[in-house]
Amino acid sequence: MLATNPAFDRIGEENAFAVLARATALAAQGRDILNLGIGQPDFRTPDHIVAAAVKALQDGQHGYTPSVGILPLREAVSRDLYKRYGVEVSPDLVMIVPGGKVTMYAAIRLFGEPGAEILYPDPGFPIYRSMIEHMGATPIPVPIREENGFAFSAEETLALITPATRLLILNSPANPTGGVTPKAEIDKLVAGLAAHPHVAVMSDEIYDQFLFDGEQHQTLLAYPEIRDRLILLNGWSKTYAMTGWRLGYSVWPKDLYDKVRKLAVNAWSCVNAATQYAGIAALEGPQDAVANMLAEFDARRRIVVDGLNDLPGVSCATPKGAFYAFPNVSRTGWGSAKQLASALLEDAGVAVIGGPDFGVHGEGYLRLSYATSRENIVAAIGRMGEFLARRK
Ligand code: PLP
Repeated sequence: MLATNPAFDRIGEENAFAVLARATALAAQGRDILNLGIGQPDFRTPDHIVAAAVKALQDGQHGYTPSVGILPLREAVSRDLYKRYGVEVSPDLVMIVPGGKVTMYAAIRLFGEPGAEILYPDPGFPIYRSMIEHMGATPIPVPIREENGFAFSAEETLALITPATRLLILNSPANPTGGVTPKAEIDKLVAGLAAHPHVAVMSDEIYDQFLFDGEQHQTLLAYPEIRDRLILLNGWSKTYAMTGWRLGYSVWPKDLYDKVRKLAVNAWSCVNAATQYAGIAALEGPQDAVANMLAEFDARRRIVVDGLNDLPGVSCATPKGAFYAFPNVSRTGWGSAKQLASALLEDAGVAVIGGPDFGVHGEGYLRLSYATSRENIVAAIGRMGEFLARRK
């Protein structure tokens, strides 16, 4: 037997990938599967972004870049943050990383060790908890409640802080709920953090451009009082339909930046050069593809929510952001939402994710990604309705 680090026995997974694998296997057997499981835009990366990567390759950009990313890209991020939020961020504090998950890994690695408590949203992106456990730290779930519009409650979050708390993970707009935490609540949270200067904050704002009904995104970067302990997670995956390119960025306080730069040197060296040039084209080029994608997501959101609310025993709050619906299925007669999700895939050919895959407070819910065509959404909800009527 080979002896391995037991920390590897404490790594979880993203069940969305397991559902995708099962859905693909069923499709390979000839089953007609409608996939509302995976969270990635069903759009191509816009052509001008692809062209910038091709040009970079043809121009000979084949080598290593600085570990923190090329300066023109870090400057483009800095300009983009100023343009969209009016906040000044030095390019020296921007780090280019291979996808949003890498920022998550670095931040949780930085603060996670036995005895350290890390607060994270539940239901929330499953990798938060998985990485906290991997580092041997103690995961402290912050309940995210439907009756609170799936927003963080400042009061409830602050009440969970102890002297052992090292890091608070925030996510708005949120996966899996589509919830958006209102500015007033973030104001309260930041004000409350003044009493806890030992707590760092990682704000996962990967869905910051996916807001509906005229909502404005409230970035945590806008609060100077916590800038010396704030890590911003963002990237290109969702906004520019670039999940497979592996391109993300983070903003760090100076002393943390220097530590994580060393991790980059040791672990991933840099993001591939051509992808970084594509990143510049994405930020500086036309933004109409982003607007078109958002308009399409908005139309689908309405179809999903209306359709789900017509199903027996199902109720679905209207998500304000991201591209997920998180219907409450606790009155369908199914004891466990995970069983319901599995039966929907096996029996009705509809791939969705059970809420418990996002945390204990996800019981009683399903996550549907509406990053798929309107026809697929309508067909999937039709099949769900037939299934629920049949399997009552
Ligand atoms: N954060 C959240 C909330 C996500 O939903 C995702 C992807 O699903 C990520 C981060 C990771 O993004 P990336 O693909 O850039 O690693």
